[in-house]
Amino acid sequence: MGQTKRVRLESYLESYPFGPTSRIRKDGERVWVPDVYCHNGHSLMVHGVLFDGLPAIHVRTLVGGEGGPVEDFYLSPVIGDSRKKGDPRKIGPQLPEGTRLMLCCPICKEELRPLVPCTCRVGARRRAVYLTPNPSEQGAIGLCETYGCPQSFVSEDGELVYEIVVE
Ligand SMILES: [Zn+2]
Ligand SMILES: [Zn+2]
Repeated sequence: MGQTKRVRLESYLESYPFGPTSRIRKDGERVWVPDVYCHNGHSLMVHGVLFDGLPAIHVRTLVGGEGGPVEDFYLSPVIGDSRKKGDPRKIGPQLPEGTRLMLCCPICKEELRPLVPCTCRVGARRRAVYLTPNPSEQGAIGLCETYGCPQSFVSEDGELVYEIVVE
């Protein structure tokens, strides 16, 4: 990653009920999601790519938007951790920051649903991966569709739980 951004992790729920079955987990200082899904209920977790021993979130992207070249990305499931890896079987291109990505489910290939705009770029939106197989349960992570933009959030029951903000 090129330039360094000052990034802040905001926590909105002081009393989140962390536990062995909660949709957001915590061990020590580390907060992470054990499973996420597309809007059709496909699990996006892969065990072939790990971050500190935790399965990664697999998102397929079309670089530049519809019709663009396909790149697979593996995101850290740790909240506030912006690490990502390319496809381990091929070395993906180093994309310039600010590249628009069309974020898709690697299983149904459908574009992830838009949630809210992102302030990083005119027209940018944050796309949903859900904490449960049923999107109507309103637990989601909002991922920006701009490469290199760390601004994301986690909500549960429609309430903001965590937000990553660029200062
Ligand atoms: Zn899907
Ligand atoms: Zn953004």
